[in-house]
Amino acid sequence: TEQTLVLVKPDGVARGLTGAILARIEAKGYSLVDIRLVEPDRERLEQHYAEHAGKPFYEPLLEFMMSGPSVAIRLAGNRVIEGFRSLAGTTDPTSAAPGTIRGDFGRDWGLAVQQNLVHGSDSVESANRELAIWFD
Ligand code: ATP
Repeated sequence: TEQTLVLVKPDGVARGLTGAILARIEAKGYSLVDIRLVEPDRERLEQHYAEHAGKPFYEPLLEFMMSGPSVAIRLAGNRVIEGFRSLAGTTDPTSAAPGTIRGDFGRDWGLAVQQNLVHGSDSVESANRELAIWFD
């Protein structure tokens, strides 16, 4: 069955939302295969966010992701990649639909990076690549 990488990013962990986010994932019916608290170094983040290198928000994004621990989750289920991204909502939390993680818990804090609580892989290829980075 399909697997994806979910991250509860540093803002989600710092705000004490890990449990609420996990509850939504479990209520949806996906299976937790592995879960760990990670304090990623710059090298791990450069691998994870390679596609964004050079973009204006790249440096703020790496700084934000090094500002505290994230919770990395290996999640399994049929169509879990699409399903988790639907649970998460769109990238910008201001306009993310209510009922989604980002729409219910996120907002614009006026920073150079969107603090949007979670990450979810966007394809099977990304999932395999990212799972290898966070669960080595
Ligand atoms: P993720 O990959 O984290 O699930 P996503 O696929 O919705 O989010 P990407 O376009 O891959 O978004 O961007 C990765 C992350 O970079 C976003 O989740 C957000 O934290 C940050 N980001 C993306 N676009 C911007 C932007 N225009 N300004 C500030 N930060 C941004």
